[in-house]
Amino acid sequence: MFFLLDCDGVIWTGDHVFEGVPETLELLRSRGKKVVFVTNNSTKSREEYLKKFTTLGIPSNVEEIFGSAYSSAIYISRILELPAPKNKVFVLGEAGIENELRSENIPFIGGTDPALRRDMTPEDWKGLADGSLLDPDVGCVLAGLDFHINYLKLAHALQYLRRGAVFLATNIDSTFPMNHNFFPGAGSVGAMPLAFMTGTQPLALGKPSQAMLDAIEGKFQLDRARTCMVGDRLNTDIKFGVEGKLGGTLAVLTGVSKRADWEARDAVAVPAFYVDKLSDLGAVAL
Ligand code: PLP
Ligand code: CA
Repeated sequence: MFFLLDCDGVIWTGDHVFEGVPETLELLRSRGKKVVFVTNNSTKSREEYLKKFTTLGIPSNVEEIFGSAYSSAIYISRILELPAPKNKVFVLGEAGIENELRSENIPFIGGTDPALRRDMTPEDWKGLADGSLLDPDVGCVLAGLDFHINYLKLAHALQYLRRGAVFLATNIDSTFPMNHNFFPGAGSVGAMPLAFMTGTQPLALGKPSQAMLDAIEGKFQLDRARTCMVGDRLNTDIKFGVEGKLGGTLAVLTGVSKRADWEARDAVAVPAFYVDKLSDLGAVAL
């Protein structure tokens, strides 16, 4: 049996691990359950996530970690398979996305390139309009969370999309939780502005997109009927599990969504089960 575990709001909040989580993970593993950490945070690669797990004292390995940057990279290399030479990706995002693209040998531009962290010049307005400043090999735009988003990068992305590039997003979270508050998420800084500009929607590779579940299923050969998605957010985690027809969905109350959210008449998704916190699973016969 597989437990797909969301990270922020289930395992930890920021750098604080919830009480009893390492013991609960150990219990799940000792009962023969497989755990996979499924996170929408595109700013970190699996290797960077592993460092976080290790620093926080949670045993894990790269093979158990499935983030939206990795999900995007394997979608591009194994499903999209853009024919060379037009197989370069223009990235809106941070190093985590670049590292996962590198791990799949996917050529890319943009991302953390310091040359794009500046104001537009008259040459940019002209060269972007006539295409002379564009890389003819770009066949895909991947929009993730870019902490240095600016007009110049959005203008590049728009021109590539107008020339037919495939439009992908690591995830389309409107916000993400931080320090007991919310900050602009990946969807808000790149993907949705570009969707507005082009009148098209990106294919998202993070929860609740079923493309991510397909990728997880392909990698782990999991049986959906014997898989449980555990998460704190109805519109990402629980929707992901319900739409994927997983055997179980379990909401925890240590994160964003509260009980009133799924009891509401217009609930975006309703979990099959809920517990106050992940470590309450220890009291349940597994
Ligand atoms: N995106 C970013 C940038 C984040 O920092 C977070 C949580 O910290 C998320 C998304 C949501 O991550 P998760 O799917 O693990 O809740
Ligand atoms: Ca979460």
